[in-house]
Amino acid sequence: MEQDITTDLRVLETHLDGMLNRVLHNSLTLKRLQSFEMRLLGLSSLAEMIEFILGEAKALFDLDVISLCLIDAKNEIAGYLEVDNYNYRDREGLFLASSEWQLRHSFGLSDQPFLGSYQTTVCEKFFSESNQQKPASVVIAPLIRRDRYLGSLNLGSYHNERFIQGMATDFVEHIASVISICLENNLNVETMRRTSLVDPLTGVNNRRFLEQRIEEELDRSQRNREPLSCLFLDIDFFKRINDGFGHQAGDHVLAVVASIIKKLLRNNDVLARYGGEEFVALLSQSDESTASEIAERIRLSIANLQVEYGDQSIPVTISIGVATYQPSLSQKKPVTEIALQLVQTADAALYEAKRKGRNRVENGGLVLVVEPD
Ligand code: GH3
Ligand code: MG
Ligand code: MG
Repeated sequence: MEQDITTDLRVLETHLDGMLNRVLHNSLTLKRLQSFEMRLLGLSSLAEMIEFILGEAKALFDLDVISLCLIDAKNEIAGYLEVDNYNYRDREGLFLASSEWQLRHSFGLSDQPFLGSYQTTVCEKFFSESNQQKPASVVIAPLIRRDRYLGSLNLGSYHNERFIQGMATDFVEHIASVISICLENNLNVETMRRTSLVDPLTGVNNRRFLEQRIEEELDRSQRNREPLSCLFLDIDFFKRINDGFGHQAGDHVLAVVASIIKKLLRNNDVLARYGGEEFVALLSQSDESTASEIAERIRLSIANLQVEYGDQSIPVTISIGVATYQPSLSQKKPVTEIALQLVQTADAALYEAKRKGRNRVENGGLVLVVEPD
């Protein structure tokens, strides 16, 4: 009798130990989840968010493989990441799908997480990294927000029994819904950032963007001791184009001219629509002669062009003023003042180009940055 009670007690103790272990394990998991969420919520860009999920979630949740699929039907995500200089094409574990349809039909994703052993037909596309061992068990959780598919979070383990069909999915669903909220939020912020700094007619940046960037460019130019040049570009007799061919034709000419200028600049140069038919470009690492050469190339490309609009052929020319900032050790002026002076010098050179007959480039020279004694 006494023996029986002792045995029962031992069994109970073992059960209790097991339960305690599970409680400890669960509370640890919960703490990790909370810390993951807090850090995720604090991130302010899409690139940071992707890096955080792909970089940290693996260790945090003890996974062997992780990947993230984002739906990018309009190529917007790719654009945002490019602007941030984030090399999304080479980021292991990240892939952009061209449509929700692609995800649903080609990837076979439903509204519920898929959980269980790795099946090639369902899982292949989510774990397509060629240099990686395929996981033995997986969770593929859709990222959904307001009935809209944003992508999927894909977790894998080399252990067969880590994710078993029929297991509770509330934990994964919870992470997926927090990631979806952060993703939606960051996408909205990126869209707002973009629309507030881009001119809708020409697709190039606007004056607000230029004003933000010019000081950053001047700081960089001082740090690296490299020249920075500014082009002020203005379409010649644009009023006549509007009057002769109509305002819509004028709009089309503006967009075509902007795209030609953009094409002739380097990727990291800044181009902004400054006002009506005026553009400003900032050319980093460009001295006076390089900047004048680039300006001449732009002038010539536009002069050689007839812009087609309906059945009309519209001749266009442009005048350009050039100014250059050369950092010096005896630098005394604040960058705000240099910025103003750089644009004013280029504008004055443009005025000269107009005065001398248009369809030409005038060099305004170096901006004076040291106060005369
Ligand atoms: P100049 O060679 O001296 O620069 O002569 P201009 O005719 O180009 O210059 P002016 O400043 O007299 O006229 C600019 C015109 O640009 C007037 C304005 O109606 C037109 N404009 C400004 N913004 C837009 C726009 O968004 N679309 C169109 N179609 N026209 C615009
Ligand atoms: Mg003009
Ligand atoms: Mg003008």
